[in-house]
Amino acid sequence: MIEERPEILDKYQLVVGLEIHAQLITASKAYSGAPNAYGDLPNANTCPLTLGHPGTLPRLNEAVIEHAIRLGLATDCQLTREMHFARKNYFYPDLPKGYQITQDKTPICVNGSLSVKDADGNQKRIGITRIHIEEDAGKSIHDQDPYNTLVDLNRAGVPLLEIVSEPDIRSIEEAYNYIAEIRRLVRYLDICDGNMEEGSMRCDANVSVMLKGSSTFGKRCEVKNMNSLRNVQRAISYEMKRQIALIENGQDVEQQTRSFEAVSGTTFTLRGKEDAHDYRYFPEPDMPALLLEQGSIDEVQRSMPPLPRQLFERYTQKLGLSEYDANLIIESKPIALYYEKIIEHTDNHKAAANWLMGDIKSYLNQSATGIEDFPIAPEKIAALIALIDSEKVSYSLASQKLFPLMLERKDAWPEALAEEKQVLQKSDDEWLKGIIKDVLASYPDKVEAYKKGNKGMLGLFMGELMKRSDRKANPKIANQLLKEILES
Ligand code: ADP
Ligand code: MG
Repeated sequence: MIEERPEILDKYQLVVGLEIHAQLITASKAYSGAPNAYGDLPNANTCPLTLGHPGTLPRLNEAVIEHAIRLGLATDCQLTREMHFARKNYFYPDLPKGYQITQDKTPICVNGSLSVKDADGNQKRIGITRIHIEEDAGKSIHDQDPYNTLVDLNRAGVPLLEIVSEPDIRSIEEAYNYIAEIRRLVRYLDICDGNMEEGSMRCDANVSVMLKGSSTFGKRCEVKNMNSLRNVQRAISYEMKRQIALIENGQDVEQQTRSFEAVSGTTFTLRGKEDAHDYRYFPEPDMPALLLEQGSIDEVQRSMPPLPRQLFERYTQKLGLSEYDANLIIESKPIALYYEKIIEHTDNHKAAANWLMGDIKSYLNQSATGIEDFPIAPEKIAALIALIDSEKVSYSLASQKLFPLMLERKDAWPEALAEEKQVLQKSDDEWLKGIIKDVLASYPDKVEAYKKGNKGMLGLFMGELMKRSDRKANPKIANQLLKEILES
């Protein structure tokens, strides 16, 4: 088995190019007014156009163009100013028209790129050849009726963007990171929910291998039907080894379209090059050319949400967060937006990150809720941070007492709760001195040890002091007083 021969695998370089289909979030379909919704009763969301009735005329949904521009801008693409639509013909029961309306020669976005982490963790640029608009087919359902194939046309005509990468990807990690980055991006842009399991984001992987150092790509196979990031990794890994084994055995890799089989983790032939689809593309006669005006591009540009890379740069370069913290925050858009709201109300950016990734995240995990349903308003978290920074409450009391209270009483402000629950920190000298004297009186031998040079005893005294003060002592002032008394 080739798996057990790392020295052989090591002779080869993996080359991958990815084609990602993203189903767009729009109210209606790409070329008709039928609803674009998931989960409705079969064939509820159809119209004469979806059903391919003769005499119907397609009209492009403006939201689709806007979504495409957003993604194009976010991936540094050039936007095409004059576009034509094309028919891609094939015969399927779930495609009543007999063709998809797509873009062939004039995709809306070209020559873009995305920066992703490579296998060594360095940023690397992956070229995006093109992004074009197309429409989905319906669904053939083979497993509900024992004798018949059922057809659900709700998905027929749902708008898609197909994002085609250059064959720039050189490792499985890079492929993973590229898809994860696209998924995060479409979610930030609010154009697709990025859910691979439900099929709203789908990925085909073109895989080839060549000897390391070679500049000629090997023959590629296109692998389809992977419904998770994990399965994309498995499929590429299997396909790479299969191709290497063929070459090592003196055989040729044939250009093929293959399908991934998740149970066995293998791929099998769907069709070879000789019966590759001939879609007989031709210009769509029912759609006029589409002219994209600079004004429309500018308008989309103005409404762009913050993007993960920009946030990352701002957090690490301007706000002084570590790369680790910044990455955790930008991982999901709702978390990043919540963070943005906290820091509107506090300059302690680090504390805001700590609260979010610490207490708040653990609450969300434990209660299995999303940040969208988190009960505490961001400005109240900022107020809690201010309370700690002004030394009115210790972090440990804030975390253990106030935060849980705030979860229950979401209208209350932390300062009022602190007063009510008497957890405000005390810096009153006389009161503190009294406790310190008590503590020292209970440990005469330890005081002796301290005076002989064992400064480590300070921790013990402080611990005892905090305990006896019900954790209300201001630790900084208490520590100072403690030292003064010990040294006097
Ligand atoms: P097709 O029309 O057959 O899908 P394209 O030229 O559009 O062909 O390429 C599809 C994908 O294949 C692109 O993502 C591209 O990066 C990738 N690709 C092309 N050549 C190779 C190769 N030798 N190895 C891996 N991927 C490749
Ligand atoms: Mg293709």
